[in-house]
Amino acid sequence: MVQIEKNRIRQYFYLGAVIIIIMLSACLSGLFMRNLRIEYELKISQLSDSIISAKKRYIKDVIYRTVGDIGAEESIVQAEFTRHGEKMCDILKRALEDRLGETAGLFPGFLGLPAPVDLVVYRKSTNTVLGSSVPDRTALLFETGSPITDILLKQPVRSIEKLSDGDIHVAAFLTQTKVSALVRERMAHRIRNTSLMDGSYIWVNQIINYDGGDNYAIRLIHPNLPDTEGMSLSTDMQDIKGNAPYKEELEGVKSGGEIYFDYYFKKMHQDLITHKLSFAKLYKPFDWVLATGVHLDDVEQLIFRESKRMKDSYRSQLLYAALAAVAGIVMSIGIMVIFERLISRLISNYNSDILRQQRALVDEKKRLEDALILLKAVAFKDPLTGLWNRRAMLERLAEETSRSLRRHQCFCLIICDIDYFKKVNDIFGHNGGDAVLQSIATLLKGNVRGEDMVSRWGGEEFLILLSSVDTPIAVQKAECLRELVENHVMLFDEKEIFVTMTFGVANFCDHRSHGETLKAADAALYRGETKGRNRVETGHGMSSNGKR
Ligand code: GH3
Ligand code: MG
Ligand code: MG
Repeated sequence: MVQIEKNRIRQYFYLGAVIIIIMLSACLSGLFMRNLRIEYELKISQLSDSIISAKKRYIKDVIYRTVGDIGAEESIVQAEFTRHGEKMCDILKRALEDRLGETAGLFPGFLGLPAPVDLVVYRKSTNTVLGSSVPDRTALLFETGSPITDILLKQPVRSIEKLSDGDIHVAAFLTQTKVSALVRERMAHRIRNTSLMDGSYIWVNQIINYDGGDNYAIRLIHPNLPDTEGMSLSTDMQDIKGNAPYKEELEGVKSGGEIYFDYYFKKMHQDLITHKLSFAKLYKPFDWVLATGVHLDDVEQLIFRESKRMKDSYRSQLLYAALAAVAGIVMSIGIMVIFERLISRLISNYNSDILRQQRALVDEKKRLEDALILLKAVAFKDPLTGLWNRRAMLERLAEETSRSLRRHQCFCLIICDIDYFKKVNDIFGHNGGDAVLQSIATLLKGNVRGEDMVSRWGGEEFLILLSSVDTPIAVQKAECLRELVENHVMLFDEKEIFVTMTFGVANFCDHRSHGETLKAADAALYRGETKGRNRVETGHGMSSNGKR
């Protein structure tokens, strides 16, 4: 039984421990894998961000350099024109040395040619223009309403040189319009022929209406779609995914001068439409939006490839983690088994000690019980007859009294005395007397119920307690015993011995105390003896001797 319990405890212990270990391993592995996945996702996102930011830097750099090129080109054009003008002035100077007027007359025709430098010949005293390469010379004057000299000085032009011959002056100058036109032309040419890596290119839109809408801009340069150059653009134009890149671009350059934006567009020399990231910058002097972009399909493919590679790595890590978890579980179970065995051995040793001590205690208890039985026998038994002694009877009387009072049940006492017992002693000796006492004791004890009690009350006197009976039954029982004794033959030294006994009966219910009941029984016995012995007497004066 103990072994079965022990096995069951061991089973529960193992089951509980294995469940805890598995749960712990699962939790730790799960946590580890979760962190690993987050780390991978972070790496992919960082990779994507770093590629995109590199691409962003690249396209921004391209546009910034191109815008820078416009300024540089302007300086170059101005320098070129300056040299050109100086040369022209040189020629004029030499001509003026001969006939300035005639030379001036030549200007319109000569200077009507598309020359980069403009010339004006004017009479200073009257402020009248004699000749000019500017087609509308009055407009030139009219525009400012100032003297020609001031006009020339204040023109947003680069004044090259002034020659004078008395009242007639010649001014050679360069207009911003011409510089701009040439710069635009050259830049357009350069941009159109700029080839960037990965099939990228720069395109230019010229804004006409900053409020947007239809015809808000003209596509000036577009190497990817050269046929569409010159077409009008609308901010309502959308890509295949519904994005409105022109609108986004316009809003961006209007608010911040530049913008990154993404949309879907056809790849250069291909019909494939892919995701594209672009950067646009406004060059306000020309109202140009210069832009370039990169397609992101390569980034997306790279990220896809990296994701796949990381997923494979994640799967193998998952496998390692699972293997590590299994190894951890096996090792933990192994360690647990070893510990359990050690602890079990300790407990078993401890149990053996306890069992040994328990057995010793049981033996000790048995010895004490035996000693108690012996003690009780000595204390409560009559050594000659083996009947209960007076002490035992007094204890029983106390118990019976309380039970009787509690349950309202009567009990009766019978005191009986061997008649003329001294004579038995006298005739058969003391041993013969003892033998009679023993024989009578056995007879009395053998003829009462289990719940009744027979005691040796003293000498040749016996006290019998009949539990839960009334007087008539007790008298009947006493009479029965009396007859048995009377008819009982005892043998001692091969001689027959006959004795008779006198019985006194009393009912507890008549007296309500065992002391009084005893006295009544004793008195009845006394009466029986005085009436001639071998009789049964009661406290009520009832008596019998078999003949009644
Ligand atoms: P009565 O009929 O009036 O009772 O007279 P009796 O002789 O029976 O009673 P009595 O009181 O005169 O004498 C009792 C005798 O019992 C005296 C005593 O020596 C004897 N006796 C008491 N105890 C023992 C015992 O244990 N063994 C023997 N053999 N005799 C005992
Ligand atoms: Mg007596
Ligand atoms: Mg007697």
